Amino acid sequence: MFTHKLLNILIPPRCVNCGDSVDIDHALCAVCWKEITFITEPFCETCGQPLEYATSGKGNTTQCMVCHQYPPPYDRGRSLVIYNDAAKKLILRFKHGDSTHLAPSFAAWMKTCEADFFKEADYLIPVPLHWTRLLQRRYNQAALLAMAFIKVIENKPVYAPFMLRRKRRTVSQGHKTIQQRHENVSQAFVVPTCYQNRLKDKGVILIDDVMTTGATLQECARTLKQVGCKKVFILTIARALKGH
Ligand SMILES: [Zn+2]
Ligand SMILES: [Zn+2]
Repeated sequence: MFTHKLLNILIPPRCVNCGDSVDIDHALCAVCWKEITFITEPFCETCGQPLEYATSGKGNTTQCMVCHQYPPPYDRGRSLVIYNDAAKKLILRFKHGDSTHLAPSFAAWMKTCEADFFKEADYLIPVPLHWTRLLQRRYNQAALLAMAFIKVIENKPVYAPFMLRRKRRTVSQGHKTIQQRHENVSQAFVVPTCYQNRLKDKGVILIDDVMTTGATLQECARTLKQVGCKKVFILTIARALKGH
């Protein structure tokens, strides 16, 4: 504790976004705080989409219309912030700009979700990159997030980056329609045979930086369920709003 305080005097904490000095580690300054929109209740308990008002879905849960009509292949998902311009800038720096030091801050933020599924997970799996892309980028931002996240949550699922593999390289999802995104990632993932038994009846948290249409995360969840995973939970820093 003492060394921590001393360090704060020597190296004062900085806003994770703009670098202005702030009071505590992993914080945003007042200006950046206003630009980042944290997702608060009510939100869809299935996919994490923020809602204007609480609705009653299956089993008295709050659910969005989309999940009500087309239940996703995962059980529950949470995201911390809305993927607006400010969040996009911050995450792009983390993803492509070598700002890997942001991972512990994001992990500390995600912990504040305190989603009840944190307790139900046996494994924590980052959304994998294809190895050719990993060579290009040099790191998988989802894996960095997972490694940082595992340090901060209380019950420790096993960090299992090899249990899900991207078996083919997919083109960027950037300018695709929802339909094209689903086709693009269809059958792109596989659970290697040696792990299939270990996943039977287990709970998994899938972690990624952003959920846009959810096509990639849904495909990962589907792949995990196919080998007998009991529960699949989704956790991302940010999510786009459906219909935007
Ligand atoms: Zn700032
Ligand atoms: Zn939903």
